[in-house]
Amino acid sequence: MGVKDLPDKAYIPVGNRGMEAFKLRECMKCGNENEDELELLDKQDVTEKEGKNILNIKTYKIKCTKCGTTYRIIVKSIYVDEQTEENRLVSAVHYAENGEEQWLGVF
Ligand SMILES: [Zn+2]
Repeated sequence: MGVKDLPDKAYIPVGNRGMEAFKLRECMKCGNENEDELELLDKQDVTEKEGKNILNIKTYKIKCTKCGTTYRIIVKSIYVDEQTEENRLVSAVHYAENGEEQWLGVF
């Protein structure tokens, strides 16, 4: 398994200056962009229905073989009625390491 499954990039709001793109297919710790050194150890895909809304949570467990860090990228997407790209409202990206989760951005 590789990191090809991950969304390419996400965006982070920067004050009043709009959004800044950042890559998801690189090590969040050391910035390693070599996809051969980023191992996808596990992927979980959970979907929940809440009335008209569909919440999909994808969790990617990634190991960077360069710096040895294992972390998770969690993508939480909200859809209306159907789980299709047109019906996607927003996806929030979180980063988790050692049980601590932080919000990274959206796409
Ligand atoms: Zn790394």
